[in-house]
Amino acid sequence: MIVILSPRSSESDLEEIIANLKDRGYGVHVSKGVEKTIVGVIGAHDNDKLLVAEQLSSLDYVERVVPILKPFKVVSHEFHPDKTIVKVDGVDIGGQKLTVMAGPCSVESEEQTLEVAKAVKEAGANILRGGAFKPSTSPYSFHGLGEDALKMLSAAREVTGMPIVTEVMDTRDVELVCRYADILQIGTRNMTNYSLLTEVGNAAKPVMLKRGMSSTIEEWLQAAEYIANQGNYNIILCERGIRTFETYTRNTFDVSAIPTVLGLSHLPIIADPSHGTGRAALVPPVAKAAVAAGADGLMIEVHPQPGKALKDGAQSLTPDGFTEMMNEISAVARAVGRYI
Ligand code: PEP
Ligand code: MN
Repeated sequence: MIVILSPRSSESDLEEIIANLKDRGYGVHVSKGVEKTIVGVIGAHDNDKLLVAEQLSSLDYVERVVPILKPFKVVSHEFHPDKTIVKVDGVDIGGQKLTVMAGPCSVESEEQTLEVAKAVKEAGANILRGGAFKPSTSPYSFHGLGEDALKMLSAAREVTGMPIVTEVMDTRDVELVCRYADILQIGTRNMTNYSLLTEVGNAAKPVMLKRGMSSTIEEWLQAAEYIANQGNYNIILCERGIRTFETYTRNTFDVSAIPTVLGLSHLPIIADPSHGTGRAALVPPVAKAAVAAGADGLMIEVHPQPGKALKDGAQSLTPDGFTEMMNEISAVARAVGRYI
C-alpha cells in the first residue's frame, strides 16, 4: 500500500511514520514528488492491511492510504506519479530530449570501438554502448573480451566524453563492471536472474533492464521491482523484442509495450530495434515507430564493417546508415514533442 502525506506534513512527521512502519517490520520507500510525499509500504500481510490502513489514516498528517493491487509497487505510477529521470553524467534519460545509445554489439578492438564511438557521437548519440561480456545462445559464438573490452570502452569515453553502458552477466562481475561502466545493462537472458537483479539493486550505478524475450510486461516490471527494492531507483527499461511464431525477424518488436509501460510505471523506457528485428534494413523504420509511440530513447547497434562483425552484423547499421537514421528520427521526435 502507499501512504500519501498531506501537503502540510513536516519532515518530522515523515520520520515518525517511517519509524512506525519499520517497527511493524515493513519495508519503506519514500518518494518525494513536486506536490506530494508518498511512502510506499512493502510487506504488509493481506490480513493486516485493512487494520493498518485504518490506523495510519487516523494520523492528522496522512491524507490518504491507498492499497496497490498490482504485483509491482515501487516502480508503479501510483507510488511515484512524476516521471523518473535517470541522470547519467550530464545525460538525462526520460526527459524531453531523447537518449540515443549507440555502438557495436561487441567491443572487438580499441580501434573499432573508438571509430564507432566518434562516428555515433558526431551523428548525435549521447551514450556509447558495447558488449564486454556477451551472452550467447550458442556456446561456440564470441563471448566478449571481458575486462580488456571495459578498458577499451573507458578509453573511448575519455576521447568522446560519452558515458558507457555495458552488460553484466554474473553477480561475481558486478563490482568489476561498476569500476568502468556508467550504466549496467541486464540482458534479456538474465531478466529473471533474481540474484543478479538484487546485486545490481545494491550497486551505485543506474541499471538498464532489458525485457526477457519470453516475459510479459508484468513479469518485466516485477524484475525492475527486485532492483528498486534494494534502494536503487535509477532503472531504465528496454524493450528489445519478444519471441513469437514469426521467424522472418529475429524477434517481434513489441511497440505496444512502450505506451503500456509508460502508463504503468514512472520509469523511462528505451527501444532496441536492433535486437528487436535482427535486420539492419528494419532498424530505422522500427526506431521511428518506437519514438512515435513515446519511447524515451533508442539503443542502436553500429559497426564500421557489419560484414566483419564478430556478432550481430546482420542487424548493425554502418556509421553512415546511423547518421541517416538520426536525421529521420529527428523529424519524428519533433512531431511528438521531443527532440534529439
Ligand atoms: C545486447 O544488447 O548486445 C544484447 C545481448 O541484448 P539482448 O540481451 O537484448 O539480447
Ligand atoms: Mn547484440
